[in-house]
Amino acid sequence: LGSTGSIGVNALAVISRFPDRFRVVGLTANNNIEVLTKQVRRFRPVAVAVSHRGSEDLRREVRTRGIQFFDVSEICSLIEHCRPDIVILAISGSSALEPFLVSVQRGIRVAPANKEALVMAGEIIMREARTNGATVIPIDSEQSAIFQCLEGRNREALQRIILTASGGPLYRVPRSGFRNLRVSQILRHPRWKMGKKITVDSATLMNKGLEVIEAKMLFGVPMDRIDVIVHPQAVIHSMVELRDGSILAQLGVTDMRLPIQYALTYPERCDSGLAAMDLLKCRQLTFDRPDLVRFPALSLAFDCARRGGTLPCVMNAANEVAVNSFLEGRLNFLQIYAIVEKVVSKHKNVPRPGLSQIWAADAWAREESRSYLK
Ligand code: NDP
Ligand code: MG
Repeated sequence: LGSTGSIGVNALAVISRFPDRFRVVGLTANNNIEVLTKQVRRFRPVAVAVSHRGSEDLRREVRTRGIQFFDVSEICSLIEHCRPDIVILAISGSSALEPFLVSVQRGIRVAPANKEALVMAGEIIMREARTNGATVIPIDSEQSAIFQCLEGRNREALQRIILTASGGPLYRVPRSGFRNLRVSQILRHPRWKMGKKITVDSATLMNKGLEVIEAKMLFGVPMDRIDVIVHPQAVIHSMVELRDGSILAQLGVTDMRLPIQYALTYPERCDSGLAAMDLLKCRQLTFDRPDLVRFPALSLAFDCARRGGTLPCVMNAANEVAVNSFLEGRLNFLQIYAIVEKVVSKHKNVPRPGLSQIWAADAWAREESRSYLK
């Protein structure tokens, strides 16, 4: 799901290496008809979903090939139709929540790259996964690293999760330079080539904030046992500290095909065809404390995570609206955090929310954020 994006394209590259093992049954995009059409010709899925608007040619083509067409709003119906063994969740933003839930409710293995859905409703998703025997194997590199470090280990042994952060594109930029940052400067990330939304989140460190909540949800660990450490080389993808003080880390090249492949072949390990990591070239691995004054989004996320309820969902929704507005040139860089902080501070938190309360909080936060934009 989200096959035309950065993760989606990488996932198809991984799948192409294992033609005897995997078959693509469904592909979805939002608007990118051109790339989706090429993918449909190459992978011949059972069904596709994309926005109805502008997709007449593709619709005609898939009909002649006997492929079922769905609108992008019907991704859950596509899942029911394809009945996949694995769903790769590479849609960005909150639109991933429904497909995530439907998949785990059907007992399907989900490989989420998307973090926003877990931030919004992680407790509900993970509960549904447990109830229905669905496995969730994260693709997000930090969560994949933690998952790998914990593999086969008794959870009682876990003392602390240490999420690493590359520091993002503004690691060495003073705060006085933040206001006039252009979108094009932000979109140049030093370590990873990713979609626009997550690249902006990496600059504010909101991405790390979302990942703190993602880790809390995925691994069921209380917030006082999750730490963030800046590691600019991005060689260590995250670590776990065990009860006896031992720290385990997962290291690897900065290439998303690695965690994607692991989520697909788990528990097996297969040749990835990627160049081996040359530790002698890295020479130094350094660590730094995150700068919460320059990057207050990270402390806001910690605070929302500790308080729980609908707050993480509200923070995520306000952030989606603000980041989109920044990408459209309607906000300056510093106003992203300013809006998110205002909306979060105004929210009346709902403890232990159900799904309808989560969607209501999401809608409220978007409306509230838009009122500040005006
Ligand atoms: P992209 O923006 O590159 O791709 C997003 C994909 O989702 C595209 O296929 C897009 O379609 C589709 N999409 C966008 N909006 C909607 C919608 N409303 N409904 C259905 N489909 C939609 O994002 P990334 O691949 O970078 O990221 C995807 C997710 O993975 C994010 O949640 C991100 O945080 C996470 N992630 C990404 C990493 C990376 O390296 N890129 C690393 C770790 C996590 P279209 O092309 O038509 O717009
Ligand atoms: Mg990550």
